Amino acid sequence: MTTPEYDNDNIFAKILRGEMPSFKVYEDDHTYAFMDIMPRAPGHCLVIPKVPCRNLLDADTESLGHVIATAQKIARAGMKAFDADGITVQQFNEDAGGQIVFHYHVHVIPRHEGVKMGPPGVMGDMDEIKANGEKLAAEVL
Ligand code: 5GP
Repeated sequence: MTTPEYDNDNIFAKILRGEMPSFKVYEDDHTYAFMDIMPRAPGHCLVIPKVPCRNLLDADTESLGHVIATAQKIARAGMKAFDADGITVQQFNEDAGGQIVFHYHVHVIPRHEGVKMGPPGVMGDMDEIKANGEKLAAEVL
């Protein structure tokens, strides 16, 4: 299968354009980090490039580098903000690979020893997500 075209109207493109709200954690020239509204654990954050690309298959290598550098900042902040024992980084590609939103993104999820991740697709409490986003943002160096 060839990688389909990027869709400018995907939800993360709308968030980048400010057409949809998001709980921002961090932003620089190349990347944007914001809270997942269906968190698998407290502090679940998403990192996206500002350039349009669907996923790992069509992203340019520079953008991949920028995204992983920001993911590292978020991961380090997550360890501190949530007194985490570890961080899970997830990234899905195309339908068959489990991808739902087709703008390249990396999940950064704080984890605690012996605590399983929650199920996907369950809407979180917005006040809690906002508060967790602020906690995370406060620890980003
Ligand atoms: P994936 O494509 O990596 O499988 O999943 C997309 C992720 O985006 C999911 O974790 C889902 O909870 C999250 N998500 C879907 N729609 C929105 C949205 O409108 N805002 C935010 N912040 N996250 C979303």
